[in-house]
Amino acid sequence: MKAEANSAEGTKAGAKPERRHFLRDIIEEDLRTGKYGGRVHTRFPPEPNGYLHIGHAKSICLNFGLAKEYGGLCNLRFDDTNPTKEEMEYVKSIQEDVRWLGFDWEDRLYYASDYFEQLYEYAVQLIKKGKAYVCDLSADEIREYRGTLTEPGKESPYRNRSVEENLDLFRRMRAGEFPNGARTLRARIDMSSPNLNLRDPVMYRILHATHHRTGDTWCIYPTYDWAHGQSDSMEGITHSICTLEFADHRPLYDWFLDELGIYHPQQIEFARLNLTYTVMSKRKLLQLVEEKHVDGWDDPRMPTISGLRRRGYTPESIREFAERIGVSRSESTVDMASLEDCIRDDLNKRAQRVMAVLRPLKVVIENYPDGMVEELDAVNNPEDASMGTRKVPFSKVIYIERDDFREDPPKKYFRLSPGAEVRLRYAYIIKCTDVVKDEKTGEIVELRCTYDPETRSGSQQRSRRVKGTIHWVSAPHALNAEVRLYDRLFTVEDPSGDDWKSFINPNSLELLRNCKVEPSLATAKAQDRFQFERMGYFCVDYDSTADHLVFNRTVTLRDTWAKIEKS
Ligand code: ATP
Ligand code: MG
Repeated sequence: MKAEANSAEGTKAGAKPERRHFLRDIIEEDLRTGKYGGRVHTRFPPEPNGYLHIGHAKSICLNFGLAKEYGGLCNLRFDDTNPTKEEMEYVKSIQEDVRWLGFDWEDRLYYASDYFEQLYEYAVQLIKKGKAYVCDLSADEIREYRGTLTEPGKESPYRNRSVEENLDLFRRMRAGEFPNGARTLRARIDMSSPNLNLRDPVMYRILHATHHRTGDTWCIYPTYDWAHGQSDSMEGITHSICTLEFADHRPLYDWFLDELGIYHPQQIEFARLNLTYTVMSKRKLLQLVEEKHVDGWDDPRMPTISGLRRRGYTPESIREFAERIGVSRSESTVDMASLEDCIRDDLNKRAQRVMAVLRPLKVVIENYPDGMVEELDAVNNPEDASMGTRKVPFSKVIYIERDDFREDPPKKYFRLSPGAEVRLRYAYIIKCTDVVKDEKTGEIVELRCTYDPETRSGSQQRSRRVKGTIHWVSAPHALNAEVRLYDRLFTVEDPSGDDWKSFINPNSLELLRNCKVEPSLATAKAQDRFQFERMGYFCVDYDSTADHLVFNRTVTLRDTWAKIEKS
């Protein structure tokens, strides 16, 4: 099923976006009844085992956004319970991404690993209550004993150990007396529960591994289910918002808190974001990076926040996207085109327009005086007069887009062709008088044109009109640039299944190394964003230097894919 993103109406800049959804309803109801004494306290709990992606952005916007909306707080908590897959690099990148999106955890940066001692104490409490036991079954055996959806599980032979024996063994597990996998601590719930999560779930496993924060202090590590709710409780979280796959874990979340008799937050599930033409699991994204299908986590083709940032997306456009797609309780897939619409809408208003020729064709204007240069006025953004104008130099030799000339033009081709006229944006009308070709290859290498001095844009005499207007760059003033044209990373809407990598788009990156851009771009800095007139939205890449400008195409001007698919 495909969800249509809601329209952008009513969310113009400045206006408070207020789309109703069930999370807002729940929070408002809780505020009305005073359930948490009027508090709203959420958290964003990433596991630092990869870079954040656009799905996480949805969760960040929800958790931080709702807290802000209702005058509450939101914590950033690293769910760092698995020492083997986690790294400081990820911890750093996650913080950078959350900040860049425009959110602030203030002094509330937490780590589940900060709670290891308290979690251990809680586990001892459950053992003493007869609600947890040390089990000697192997991981495979535990799986075997668990049963299936249709068959009840079998009780572990270690389930009825005495409290004293459990306390002793658990203490020795912590002390490092046993090898990896030799024992686990399990909750003692119900092996015949219809909910598999309640069939004596594992709370601790033995793992002799160095943790990125606690070093070698611990050799037993809590599972997600054991760590998460208790961490929420310790932080005084009110609404613990998570994705749907945890709905079946909620009874366990509640069971732990109730058995411990501690403060009880409420877990609420929503549908995760899925997007067409990309993958969103960190495991797959890691594979793309490690197998070098892309150039790192921040490759502009990646659906990661750092990739989108490098691609030229703005935080505003991503927040707007999160608002437009809304929140629901049923799984759906959002069209990549709606994400692209958000950045187009944003850049249309904000990006300065400039002229850049991506595939240059040299044009000599024969009747234009040698050595003359005119500084013409160009509008920076017709959507926003306050952005002003700039000067663009014009001279006898210019570059135009190869695509803007046809030797044999089809009907209704209003650009340049032999004998035809076209307007140069902000300049004059020119007429093509001759085509110069490479003698050997027959390739067109240059056009000869004349200009009509009476047709300068903005001047009083500008009377004549022609149908086509094209962009251009003055050759002696042009700056060389490399332009990277990005396309979708996958060729199909849903690149899932075992052979998902066979759908990688082999043409997702096109490098143009000989582009010509107007001289005003000399001072452009990394991350500056522009509309190249008629060519799309572009941003300056981190690789760009004064001597070697590099631009990434963020998005085309219109949804060209929709057109291709319909035709
Ligand atoms: P992945 O499945 O991509 O590996 P994850 O769920 O393991 O992601 P976490 O670091 O555990 O990643 O996620 C942190 C938070 O982000 C969780 O609360 C999770 O529910 C939320 N989240 C992850 N992916 C999505 C998504 N596609 N849409 C919405 N929220 C998401
Ligand atoms: Mg997870």
